[in-house]
Amino acid sequence: MIDNSFKKLKEECLKCVACNQLTKTRTNVVFGEGNIKSPLMLIGEGPGETEDLKGVPFVGKAGQLLEEALQDNNLTRNDVYITNTVKCRACDMVDGKKINRPPSEEETNNCRKWLLPQISLIDPELILCIGAPSAKNLIRKNFKITQERGLYFPSNYAKCIMATLHPSYILRKGGVNSSFYELLVKDICKAYYAAKELRSKRMSSTSIQLNSRAELF
Ligand code: SF4
Repeated sequence: MIDNSFKKLKEECLKCVACNQLTKTRTNVVFGEGNIKSPLMLIGEGPGETEDLKGVPFVGKAGQLLEEALQDNNLTRNDVYITNTVKCRACDMVDGKKINRPPSEEETNNCRKWLLPQISLIDPELILCIGAPSAKNLIRKNFKITQERGLYFPSNYAKCIMATLHPSYILRKGGVNSSFYELLVKDICKAYYAAKELRSKRMSSTSIQLNSRAELF
């Protein structure tokens, strides 16, 4: 049933024209990709050029680094669900070229109508915000990524939420050979195993409830 609702949500989102400018400059709406039954959801800020062209999140250079960090934890993209807070590439046309810019507050707010039901259908145990803008959007406005990454926070969207460094930032700081990359690998590990633990606790409490209901009859 979740699969059908999710498919329907995606179909509707792909036709969205709520943001006038983004609708004109985008190639594809980048809805998200991965395992919709995963206990862990990774949420970045928005698609860039490669993502816009392919219609898939985190597939450019930064995406490749993220994939490497997943692999270093023996995970693949199919073990998690990956999306962004804003589903269309935010850019301005300058001299006929598309120049990336951060999504505006209005665009981010518009796109919550897709993000929130997407989170609610996936129902993850833990959300890992990829980068500061996503953390400021989903944890709190004054979130400090360098000081607060890797920490668990309570959340209205999942049992808990945490944030990690954005792979583009890590690329600027030296990529896989930098200590920042190690932090990304460590945060993914922490997030995934906490999410799995929470999911297994939830499943066992459901089965305890079912058992006690069964005893009643
Ligand atoms: S960014 Fe989101 S709300 Fe805006 S047009 Fe794209 S899908 Fe619609």
